[in-house]
Amino acid sequence: MKLDQVADDVNVNGGKFTLMDLPYDRKDLEPVISRDTIDLHYGKHHSGYVDKLNDLIKGTEYENKSLKQIIIESRDNDQAIFNNAGQNYNHIIYFQSLTPEYEEPSQQMQEKIEDDFDTMDKFKEAFVDAGMKRFGSGWVYLVLENGVLKFKTYPNADNPVGEDVDILAAFDVWEHSYYLDYKNDRKEHLTRVVNELINYKFIESRLLEA
Ligand code: MN
Repeated sequence: MKLDQVADDVNVNGGKFTLMDLPYDRKDLEPVISRDTIDLHYGKHHSGYVDKLNDLIKGTEYENKSLKQIIIESRDNDQAIFNNAGQNYNHIIYFQSLTPEYEEPSQQMQEKIEDDFDTMDKFKEAFVDAGMKRFGSGWVYLVLENGVLKFKTYPNADNPVGEDVDILAAFDVWEHSYYLDYKNDRKEHLTRVVNELINYKFIESRLLEA
């Protein structure tokens, strides 16, 4: 799957991972997500996961494997490697799941959403609800499972890599993704993300490849 390669394995580089390029400027998600948050989130957190992963895999059996392979093989065996590989993957999908050029979904995409969630409003409610029910740090993933769109949540660094689903989008509910801008108001953050930043073009392009 060509697009999957581009989106998911973007930073495989001869045994060493590099931090993905952010697909927009750091200030571009304002006012929903501030430049200060992106400076920390992309510039420190995401970057830190990549550096730590490179340190941890050096000289190990994981050194020349793809990010997805590392996630699958380390999940139950090497917690530190799993955490840093998982978080690198999660953030690669997350930053592409947002766009400063928000557009409503295409008619085809909207029809698929309405088939599976009834209405656009219910789709948005399901997203916010999933994020609110994820206790502590973690992720909300939009996936296609058995032909049906659904939100699934994961704790900490975990994700659907290795499951029999197509991964369409990821949304961060770790406090570092919203605390500077929203304090403890995760619900307001998620509501604004789904109304103003969600990248339907990215989701639809992945759906077409699924
Ligand atoms: Mn994060």
